[in-house]
Amino acid sequence: MKMLWKDQIVSEFPGVERNVPLSELTSFRVGGAARFVLRPQSYEEIKRAVAFVKSFGVPFVLLGKGTNVLASDAGYDGVLIRFDAPMHAPIYDGVRVTVCGGTSLTQLARDTVKRGFMGLERLCGIPGTVGGACAMNAGAYGGEIGQILRRVRLLKNGTDAWTDVRDGDLGYRRSAFSFPDAIVLEAELELCADDGSAAETMRDCMEKRREKQPLDLPSAGSTFKRPEGYFAGALIEQCGLKGYSIGGAQVSQKHAGFIVNTGNATEADVSALIRFVQDTVKERTGVNLEPEVKRI
Ligand SMILES: Cc1cc2nc3c(=O)[nH]c(=O)nc-3n(C[C@H](O)[C@H](O)[C@H](O)COP(=O)(O)OP(=O)(O)OC[C@H]3O[C@@H](n4cnc5c(N)ncnc54)[C@H](O)[C@@H]3O)c2cc1C
Repeated sequence: MKMLWKDQIVSEFPGVERNVPLSELTSFRVGGAARFVLRPQSYEEIKRAVAFVKSFGVPFVLLGKGTNVLASDAGYDGVLIRFDAPMHAPIYDGVRVTVCGGTSLTQLARDTVKRGFMGLERLCGIPGTVGGACAMNAGAYGGEIGQILRRVRLLKNGTDAWTDVRDGDLGYRRSAFSFPDAIVLEAELELCADDGSAAETMRDCMEKRREKQPLDLPSAGSTFKRPEGYFAGALIEQCGLKGYSIGGAQVSQKHAGFIVNTGNATEADVSALIRFVQDTVKERTGVNLEPEVKRI
């Protein structure tokens, strides 16, 4: 008799976890359970996992550290592949560094500065993975990973290959290297020699984060993309919404660009607040706010 995929996944991937609350896998700390969670330990295992779910036609989603996602209260009835740990240490070759997609971006930024390089110092403090940063073209304080990303090793349409980054592959908080189109297995970044300012810049950026961002409460960072010519936080504050709450979701008192979970928020609370903020800002200022967070 043919084995069901739910039985087979357990025999093929003995480490698979069942019914894991998405609130434990995402920085927003909301969401129901993911039916199966795989945490591959090697590139081969990621490829095997993707081939497995595709062969059975099972829904699947890829997550890094889950710091830019809003997970449904209904959970995820499929396979969640969690790629949030490095398969190997960064490999330095002159000013180039090749790094695993599961590496912490903040740890990498610190490591590069310690070794006398510049390029990542402004991105220190972004709490995701390098793969997640490539997918989102993460950036802060004038720096963006796209500025130094030269090549990516992608798992795409069943093939695993390095590809050069071309003009147009990355834009503001978007990239061609994002799940479900592709999985970033590794990235090659081009740094430059530190001119002596990297450590101080990194400290300043971290200080600004601590000063301005509600780091004591769960969130997914900036909830909305920056609308051209405006700042989302300033528009939201101007509409009197700072501190506005729906259930356990609140427009942060510290930074109106962040929606935070004050303790018992559900995805429904966060979604209702996102809609309310969008509607209010549109009505009062005419500006459309587009969510930056991805949904599961
Ligand atoms: C307190 C806080 C501060 C933040 N500050 C910033 C900031 O200053 N600037 C900024 O840009 N962002 C910021 N963020 C948002 C978030 O940290 C970034 O977007 C980060 O790059 C997401 O990485 P991740 O590993 O958590 O990705 P996830 O949230 O796990 O995933 C995000 C998206 O990327 C996809 N993805 C993840 N890994 C891969 C991969 N290897 N290959 C292909 N697709 C992949 C996922 O499928 C999903 O669609 C902040 C978040 C928090 C909570």
